[in-house]
Amino acid sequence: MTYKAFDDTSLGFSTRQLHAGYNPAEHNRAKAVPIYQSAAFEIGEYERSIRLFSYQEEGTSYVRFSNPTTAAAEKRIASLEGGSAAIAMGSGMAAISSALLNLASPGDDIVASRTIYGGSQTMFNKLFPRYGVHVTFVSDEDDPQSFAAAIGENTKAVFIESIGNPLCNIIDIERVAEIAHAHGVPLVVDNTFATPYLLRPFEFGADIVCYSATKYLNGHGNSIAGVCVERGDFDWLSGKFPHMDAFYGEHKDTIGAETLGREMFTKKMRIEYLTEFGAHISPQTSFYLMQGLETLSLRMERHVANALRVAEFLEGHAAVKEISYPGLASSIYYGLAKKYFPVGGPGAMMSIRLKGGLDAAKRVLERVRIFDYMVNVGDAKSMIVHPMTSINFGQPKEVAAAAGVYEDTLRLSVGCEDAKDLIADLEQALG
Ligand code: PLP
Repeated sequence: MTYKAFDDTSLGFSTRQLHAGYNPAEHNRAKAVPIYQSAAFEIGEYERSIRLFSYQEEGTSYVRFSNPTTAAAEKRIASLEGGSAAIAMGSGMAAISSALLNLASPGDDIVASRTIYGGSQTMFNKLFPRYGVHVTFVSDEDDPQSFAAAIGENTKAVFIESIGNPLCNIIDIERVAEIAHAHGVPLVVDNTFATPYLLRPFEFGADIVCYSATKYLNGHGNSIAGVCVERGDFDWLSGKFPHMDAFYGEHKDTIGAETLGREMFTKKMRIEYLTEFGAHISPQTSFYLMQGLETLSLRMERHVANALRVAEFLEGHAAVKEISYPGLASSIYYGLAKKYFPVGGPGAMMSIRLKGGLDAAKRVLERVRIFDYMVNVGDAKSMIVHPMTSINFGQPKEVAAAAGVYEDTLRLSVGCEDAKDLIADLEQALG
């Protein structure tokens, strides 16, 4: 038998989520990816040490740089995303912060949408400026021209979420990618809420895709992880990124110009940020991630089917003032949902505002019996949270409002339970 499914890119998504990136023949024919619970690996020969530490050879010496369990997860995700390379890290925030610092240096600027996860917003507003990296937020995410207006001479990345957290707005990725590219700037997309099963931003021009793999990719709420994937054809040597030029000069003779042409972003992020800043993912977590990936398409189909039924119920409920779910025909994002999610539907996250204000929101949180009141999302189990007093805690009101967060806002992550039970739970909680 010749097993080839691990690197056959012509296979369908569900086949690749089970086979891509892992060749059992290289691991004692273990069918489940082994957990290489080892901090370091024997180097073996003197000459090999030179090859490893000059990055000529891709092997493993120390787990902070790479690990065979993690490498399999990275290859699987790169395959599912349609990218040239992926890098896994200790959390979604580690992946996003490293990705952006991999692009921007002190004095540079990043352009971002305001409709993003509260943690990313706080990092951009409070931490990045301390390192000399300024973030300009666009004034209107629904108008691609506002991205053009925000891009300046020193802009080194445009950052958006494909489905905004928690507003669940959809940004016209294709138009924003065209605008970013016209300025020689890469588009970085946090695709956490969408997953590569529902949307692959590279097909619409994105250059880097980031994930909190804590969420749907893992899918079972048992560990924290992050991933970045590179499309592989951005021109990093245009002169706009002096640190990329320097990296290329330093490594082209050992890593090779061809590999760098395809994976420069990922190699640089691994060698500089993962290895030196150290936010590595544990092999055990990579194993959980692989397990979760095996059922990604199945879970997402169920998530989305349930979400639509829950959204339709909430839309018709007397206690609900507003619902934001792009799969509803009444949503202002319905047209973009059809464009970007024509087959699978626009995810399973939604936010609602309640007519009864904060008191009503508190009541729902304390009454739910199946939805869990917690800050995570993308677990197979349903969750609900009050963003103002958790994820967006302490933010100025106008910053929170721009991300769709008010004191009467609740965010729902619709899981894979029976839809009728979820609806009954919300009905009793809202009643
Ligand atoms: N991006 C999005 C859209 C998120 O919702 C989150 C976390 O909730 C993150 C990034 C950060 O991920 P992590 O918690 O894995 O660091």
